[in-house]
Amino acid sequence: MRLSKGFFPTVKEVPTDAVIPSHQLMIRAGLMRQLTAGVYSFLPLGYAVMKKVMQIIREEMDAIGGQEFHLPALNPIELWEETDRVKAFGDIMFHVKNRPMVLAPTHEEVITAIAKNHVKSYREMPQIWYQIQTKFRNEPRPKSGVLRGRQFTMKDSYSMDATREGLDRSYDLHAEAYKRIYTRCGLSFYIVGASSGAMGGSGSQEFMVESNAGEDNLAVCAESGYAANVEIATSLVPPAERFEANPAVEKVHTPGCRSIDEVAAFLKLPVARCAKSLVFMNGTAPVLVLMLGNDQLNEAKLQGVFGQDIRPAHPEELAQITGADAGSIGPVGLPATVTVVADRRLQNANGLVCGANVNDHHLVNVDLGRDAKVSAFHDLRSVEEGEMSPDGKGKLRIVKGIEVGHIFKLGTKYSSAMKANFLDEKGEEHPIIMGSYGIGVERIVACHIEQHHDEFGIRWQKGVAPYDVHLIMVNKNSEAVVAKSEELYAELTKQGLAVLFDDRSDVSPGFKFKDADLLGMPLQVIVGDKNLKNNEIELKERETGRRWNAGVASVVGDVVSYVRN
Ligand code: ATP
Ligand code: MG
Repeated sequence: MRLSKGFFPTVKEVPTDAVIPSHQLMIRAGLMRQLTAGVYSFLPLGYAVMKKVMQIIREEMDAIGGQEFHLPALNPIELWEETDRVKAFGDIMFHVKNRPMVLAPTHEEVITAIAKNHVKSYREMPQIWYQIQTKFRNEPRPKSGVLRGRQFTMKDSYSMDATREGLDRSYDLHAEAYKRIYTRCGLSFYIVGASSGAMGGSGSQEFMVESNAGEDNLAVCAESGYAANVEIATSLVPPAERFEANPAVEKVHTPGCRSIDEVAAFLKLPVARCAKSLVFMNGTAPVLVLMLGNDQLNEAKLQGVFGQDIRPAHPEELAQITGADAGSIGPVGLPATVTVVADRRLQNANGLVCGANVNDHHLVNVDLGRDAKVSAFHDLRSVEEGEMSPDGKGKLRIVKGIEVGHIFKLGTKYSSAMKANFLDEKGEEHPIIMGSYGIGVERIVACHIEQHHDEFGIRWQKGVAPYDVHLIMVNKNSEAVVAKSEELYAELTKQGLAVLFDDRSDVSPGFKFKDADLLGMPLQVIVGDKNLKNNEIELKERETGRRWNAGVASVVGDVVSYVRN
């Protein structure tokens, strides 16, 4: 493709809402343009990358026996009522105004409807059905460019099995295919355990790309490969100490001491001797949560124990329940209506300082087993940077991550709701056991840029680069340069390479070099007057900035082998 003829609208300025590198670079390099909030037009260069990514996905899905479908985005609303997901999706689902129809945010229902009519025997399974198709979600806050759009492309696949073991196999096949897909797309990624609550299922993992543009916080360990969403991450931290001497509880006056640090300083005790009390309401039932020292309570873990609806108590409720304000609350002598739970670090702890449930007073020498009624110990704390990974192999880092894919063991949630049943060997009827697996195509493209760019532009990796080579005709006034550039364009194209040829006669060499770095093809072939006089052509690797000269006679072979290796 000749830059003089093609549509390559590169720009210097980006809108102020483009704050992350991938969003800025996708605009600057002319990959896409916003049509309206969360909706983007892909321009030829951007769509070329999309097609590469989709091809990689197709190859890997076909390799695990996937069969490609193309399902409609426009769905009758009744279909979604069968599984009660009109309600579950709420405002996220787009509704059509003049018909009882919706725009599909995902395709479990359509797939299950097909399976229900045609997959009737255990002999017809396993099946893996996939598609690469447009999804619609009325995201409340579309942002970060194509990372969170209201219309986006998803590879979604669905497995159908007759047994749980079959589901495990289909799930594992997907996990392996996903690893190959992201690797071929040039992404370094983590696989993290995810909670599968709302979708209903028994197992679920997310594929996460480390990036400051991410919305999820992950705890990762480079040494062991451990990675988990901080909502569920754990670490190796020692339990609170247990002391031989165990004197009786004593109430002490702690005027003005509200935080753990203030109390510890006032009593001249280490922070790790203090237990912090937090009060929550689980419906109308009060719950007191105890944490060691300054350990942060992880509300996602607390919700895991008590359910989604648990909330911090209001200040008036605090006083009513405990008789004291925050800062002086504790687990000893509470009414029986208060459930006390504690972080597992506090199991067996004694010699503790806790609030006395009287303002400006604390209790010392508290033995939780002896003096309080702790109904259960759970892992309730948030891990912190630098703590030991749970496998003990290295330290944790807390990083931001972008979800690029998600695999789910659905089980029979949809097949049961829609009565998609099959007959087993004995002629007994069961709901089909399903899995659901998604990949965001635009997210792969944006994440690739997040991980591969510098201040000058994109650095496409070979697997997804829209062109293999960026050929630059430096001096338009030199006949030799023009002739050699044209010759190389023809020859490299003949060799099967995708060549972007900057043959423009109306821009300066400096401008061309800048564009080449911005557009980011892996190899630049620079045909300039000076080098050509020495029978040489300059090559530049975009990734490293490394430059070297190739002889005119060998340059085609050199470039072809660079691209193919
Ligand atoms: P998120 O938590 O980021 O909202 P999700 O969990 O709702 O995503 P899934 O339903 O698991 O997403 O969809 C499968 C994949 O589709 C995701 O892993 C992600 O890569 C992609 N995806 C989801 N929502 C969007 C969106 N609004 N824009 C672009 N890609 C998306
Ligand atoms: Mg998800």
